[in-house]
Amino acid sequence: MDRDLALLKAAATVQAQETVSMCRVHCGAPGFAAVERLNAYRGLAHAYQNAGGDNELILYDTARAMADLDRYAPPEPGAGPPDEGDLRSPRVWLFLARDVERRMRDRLAGRVADARAAGRDPFTAWNGNLVLAARTAVACADRTMLEILVTSLEEGPELLGPVLRLHALNWLDRRAGDLLNEGVVPAGVLDEVWALRAEVCDALAPRAADLAAGLDLPAPITAPAAGILPGDGG
Ligand SMILES: Cc1cc2nc3c(=O)[nH]c(=O)nc-3n(C[C@H](O)[C@H](O)[C@H](O)COP(=O)(O)OP(=O)(O)OC[C@H]3O[C@@H](n4cnc5c(N)ncnc54)[C@H](O)[C@@H]3O)c2cc1C
Repeated sequence: MDRDLALLKAAATVQAQETVSMCRVHCGAPGFAAVERLNAYRGLAHAYQNAGGDNELILYDTARAMADLDRYAPPEPGAGPPDEGDLRSPRVWLFLARDVERRMRDRLAGRVADARAAGRDPFTAWNGNLVLAARTAVACADRTMLEILVTSLEEGPELLGPVLRLHALNWLDRRAGDLLNEGVVPAGVLDEVWALRAEVCDALAPRAADLAAGLDLPAPITAPAAGILPGDGG
């Protein structure tokens, strides 16, 4: 199977599972009732962590190819960060994603090479680095996703702009541990991310109805909570 496709399957199914689980929580009690399609989507997204090739093994295979430079070229972040590191800038997102991927790959390759030079067999050399390996592959998937996101921001419908920006800021929030661990962002970065996310959400809120309309959802899509409580008679 195409390696990039497998990696994107792993990334997409993790994102789908997180998203549908969040939708369920924010639906309150109706989200837990076996109505609508939320639970079916959640079950499907969960199953696809294994189905179509186990996500964790896909990450390990990808990381191995990255470390060996097997049909893989580390991204070139360039000098930076550009735009004075302003986290509103798509160029900064790309710089950070490329920089962190490159640093993690270099560290992974170095650590496996050191273990081999110290006489460890290939299994042991890799087995001691699986956490870094999986995260390195995730960094590659993230960078690929952000490159697509930035193109969509430039060329896609204007209405989607705040959604894409929110996604990029959520990426910074979610991966802050790796970004800080690699020294790509300074301490305190999350305060800035949270403030910017609040700005984007303020811009997004008045457009929620237009975005929902764009999803072409069947009506009605909600049920009153009272209607699903046992013994309620509703
Ligand atoms: C809903 C569903 C539908 C499916 N449909 C199809 C289908 O239509 N056709 C088909 O051919 N297959 C299908 N499969 C099978 C699917 O491809 C396999 O489940 C998948 O490849 C994982 O293999 P496995 O089940 O043997 O689990 P394993 O490979 O045994 O993995 C189980 C766990 O062990 C971990 N693990 C395994 N090896 C290692 C390792 N070396 N290091 C660290 N951790 C490891 C994995 O990360 C995972 O958490 C389906 C699976 C599911 C769940």
